[in-house]
Amino acid sequence: MDTQMLIGTKFEAGTETDERILNPKTGELIVDLPEASLAQVEAAVDAAEGAFVSWSQTTPGQRAGYLLAIADAIEKDAAAFAALESLNCGKPINAVLNDEIPAIVDCYRFFAGAIRTLQAPVSGEYLPGFTSMIRRDAVGVIGSIAPWNYPLMMMAWKLAPALAGGNTIVFKPSEQTPLTALKLAKVMADILPEGVVNVVLGRGESVGNALINNPKIQMLSITGDIATGKKVMTAAAKTVKRTHLELGGKAPVIVHDDAHIDAVVSAVRTFGYYNAGQDCTAACRIYAADKIYDRFVADLAAAVSTIKFNQADDAENEIGPLISKRQRDRVESFVTRAAEHKHMEVVAGGKLGSDKGFFYTPTVIAGATQDDEIVRREVFGPVVSVTRFTEAEQAVAWANDSDYGLASSVWTKDISRAMQTAAKLRYGCTWINTHFMLCNEMPHGGMKQSGYGKDMSVYALEDYTTVRHVMIAH
Ligand code: NAD
Repeated sequence: MDTQMLIGTKFEAGTETDERILNPKTGELIVDLPEASLAQVEAAVDAAEGAFVSWSQTTPGQRAGYLLAIADAIEKDAAAFAALESLNCGKPINAVLNDEIPAIVDCYRFFAGAIRTLQAPVSGEYLPGFTSMIRRDAVGVIGSIAPWNYPLMMMAWKLAPALAGGNTIVFKPSEQTPLTALKLAKVMADILPEGVVNVVLGRGESVGNALINNPKIQMLSITGDIATGKKVMTAAAKTVKRTHLELGGKAPVIVHDDAHIDAVVSAVRTFGYYNAGQDCTAACRIYAADKIYDRFVADLAAAVSTIKFNQADDAENEIGPLISKRQRDRVESFVTRAAEHKHMEVVAGGKLGSDKGFFYTPTVIAGATQDDEIVRREVFGPVVSVTRFTEAEQAVAWANDSDYGLASSVWTKDISRAMQTAAKLRYGCTWINTHFMLCNEMPHGGMKQSGYGKDMSVYALEDYTTVRHVMIAH
């Protein structure tokens, strides 16, 4: 197991407090990893700054070559990367191996191609005797901070467009899930020039805070909680850093009365609970039309009760545990508070999922209303609420009545109704008759307090590069 941080070309252990890295399936210790000192964070930023001049001058074709080599190396060692991610996060091995790793490999390959085909406006003579052109150039050193729900994938979403754009990076994984980042650091050190990618370990309030306040960093990229995003914006204001924010979500799912109910039930069973609901796009806030509400709730409760978890044979598991006891207790407290209200009923789950480890049973809460906490706040666990609506307009208004604005879905057989609803939703993504489908060609990112950074697609390349005007006098 790789346990050391990457600073320039050096692999070294942190010198500060140990972080206990636990196996969420058992609660047992995997390894203690000390966090970086302020001097080590500084050294990582200096290494990235030192590498910037030459890296930013490489050609798109050269950078594409490096990205393709990274993709190949992950693909070649996919089984080991998947096993480590599964160990650290408790994810079912098949989910990591078959869903996540191919998408991660494809992310590096996508940006390898995309950077060579960027489109730009025409050049021209906008003042007589002068020719103007637009360039897209690297921003500089990027401080990049990831959450614990998809560690290796969030690393890909952040590093691939940043590297393609010619930037150098100091990356901090979540203090709870650093293992695959350390393994990938080894791979990257063999492939990339010195200092282009650096990996430091530690908690948000110490190492993360040092990174976001470092004056040599020109851009901060963070995926995490809204509260953390606000701290990043405050720190960025001091030296006017560019920010790329991907914050939480509370995805509404509008089920019209003509929807294919079996298809919705099947999709919510999968995508309300995938990754144990620790997903910012999780289909967790259902608005079901009055006419189909009772059948939908009954079918969903029955379907969700069959989700497999904590089986001895991991190949049978559909979901894993929560990442930590703290997160499981948080999920439990949301359900307990909801159950105290007479108008809500826990129709599936609603209890701890195991004696050891951090499992929680997949849960459905019916009868929720718009002002209930369970409808308004992000649970980030395997809990779905269902709310009844009578008027379609009301469902759209409720769906939009949220601080979050990341993902949403609409279910109906009427294509006009689907398009009209999609046009009114204030979410970075609206799926029609599906949910959660992501691809590297399309942007992923939010509106409102879900943030404004776009991951994947050419829009991420735009976020990680800056537009410049170069003019020549004839
Ligand atoms: P978090 O905000 O607690 O932590 C995210 C990262 O920020 C971690 O690496 C953490 O160490 C760091 N951090 C925390 N405080 C910091 C500070 N003061 N300064 C600098 N860095 C700091 O979030 P989490 O609990 O790891 O992840 C769950 C959250 O992430 C959820 O809200 C979820 O919706 C969101 N998320 C969003 C997306 C998206 O695409 N929008 C994707 C995944 C997760």
